[in-house]
Amino acid sequence: MRLFRTLLTAAATTALLVGSVHAQDAVTAEKLRDKALLDRTAWDITEDLTTTIGPRLVGSPAMARAKDWSVAKFKALGFTNVKVEEFAKPSWTRGEESAQLVAPYPMKLNIVGLGRTVATPPEGLEAEVALFRTYDEMIAAPEGSLKGKIVVITQPMVRAQDGAGYGVAGISRRAGPVEAAKRGAIALLIRSISTSDSTVPHTGVTAFGDDVVSIPSAALGVPEAEQLERLAAKGAVRIKLKLASTVDPKAVAWNISGEIRGSQTPDEVIVIGGHLDSWDVGTGALDDATGVAITTAAAKLIGDLPKHPKRTIRVVMFGSEESGGSAEAYVDAHKAELPKIVLAGESDTGADRIYALQIPKGSSGHPAIKTAVRVLTPLNIYLDRLPSPHAGSDIEGLEAAGVPVIGLKQDASRYFDYHHTMDDTLNKVRPGELAQNVAAWTSFIYLMADSDIDFRVLSAAAPAAPSH
Ligand code: ZN
Ligand code: ZN
Repeated sequence: MRLFRTLLTAAATTALLVGSVHAQDAVTAEKLRDKALLDRTAWDITEDLTTTIGPRLVGSPAMARAKDWSVAKFKALGFTNVKVEEFAKPSWTRGEESAQLVAPYPMKLNIVGLGRTVATPPEGLEAEVALFRTYDEMIAAPEGSLKGKIVVITQPMVRAQDGAGYGVAGISRRAGPVEAAKRGAIALLIRSISTSDSTVPHTGVTAFGDDVVSIPSAALGVPEAEQLERLAAKGAVRIKLKLASTVDPKAVAWNISGEIRGSQTPDEVIVIGGHLDSWDVGTGALDDATGVAITTAAAKLIGDLPKHPKRTIRVVMFGSEESGGSAEAYVDAHKAELPKIVLAGESDTGADRIYALQIPKGSSGHPAIKTAVRVLTPLNIYLDRLPSPHAGSDIEGLEAAGVPVIGLKQDASRYFDYHHTMDDTLNKVRPGELAQNVAAWTSFIYLMADSDIDFRVLSAAAPAAPSH
């Protein structure tokens, strides 16, 4: 009897400490998962956003239409407390762009200006090429040594399931223009940050420092970059480059959100979402219409339940991811409620299948997580041994402010073939894999929303080692 009472007390204490998950929750989560696999909502959202609105560059008229589209979409899908939060965001608009090989023979080069690049003079500029096969080789050139040259960096990107090659190769785009300018270059061309073998070039933002002269910067198609590499090994190469663009320093952007209100502790909020803006060259299907669609469809399916889970689920369609700004704007607008944001997650790596769940450290033993892992396993998703850092650039601000984040990691093997190109279009989205994403988000977020799991407490109690 005493043993029985001790066990009971222990069970009650455990329940008090870590929160209780009812068996009913697991059943509901499984039903949601299976329903989501057959649900069309995410596909319909992706189709509508990419077709009705098209490319969505921040500051463009299309982005204003996208804002109105978001509000209407949230309302039509039954979300409440729909909000539009405006913030200042200077905009950049691409103009005419072209590039030609001039010597040793004339040939058209497929290029696309990097986001926020400065223009060339209207007549363009022509110069001899200084070619580097890696970013580090260019960095090794002394300051001033590349005076008057068009620098070309041809570092390739490694294809990997977790997309890790992007961060490594992406340095050429992010820091290349500043560093090439320091060394005297008058323009920079990089091999596209791409895993494809296509001539279609990839854009993406570049950051210019305040202390250096900004130089025109663009990305080359992969075969063109390889051609230049071979030509440069044989002798002098000359290129002519023309880039045009305009900037509006007074433009604005918006973070738009809608909620599925919690039934018991509505002040506790789970923030999920994707970004509404895209580059101007494609229709931003994989980046990131599908992220918006996956998270919106997941919350909508949970909202359709006869009884909402305990906590509020808020979907945010972030308004300026590509050239930055929405993460900071979101934190600024929500400082007061940060302690009540119990969890955040973003979907922003396309729509291929999710293969791993990443959770905050210290939480893998919690019953809600154990249930979630059981529910996700039939979707072919495993629990990553490593905790979840950097789960999305729009939620970086929340993460930095101490909000726990989760990652539902998507297979990125194919993503960087199309990322930031005119080929990022609806026909790259595979409906079955999109549905698997929605099934994972729906069941996982439902379980977290109907639990009282406190990731902050669990993380604080966990050892510093990089395991759960
Ligand atoms: Zn993105
Ligand atoms: Zn992007």
